[in-house]
Amino acid sequence: MPNYRYTCAEGCQFDALFSMSEVPAQLDCRSCGASARRTITAPFLSAAGSSAYGLMDRAAATAHEPAVVSNLPSRGPGQATPVTRNPLHAKLPRP
Ligand SMILES: [Zn+2]
Repeated sequence: MPNYRYTCAEGCQFDALFSMSEVPAQLDCRSCGASARRTITAPFLSAAGSSAYGLMDRAAATAHEPAVVSNLPSRGPGQATPVTRNPLHAKLPRP
């Protein structure tokens, strides 16, 4: 249910929860009792829980908790094994 902000003629502001189909344009002010009009405000859009936020979490996690694999990924029949001729690559650890 969206949260709507109301402002009365005296300047009091308060928030109220209404469904989008039942939101009134005016309410009685909770502080002074005067008529308060609905105020247009920026919507609260949270990034938490979105796919973009999950992607940022996973990218940050690989920096300090990289996934460890026990074997190389399998290759298809048409893909050749890459060959390196650099002698330093022979010293790299093997699975
Ligand atoms: Zn008021």
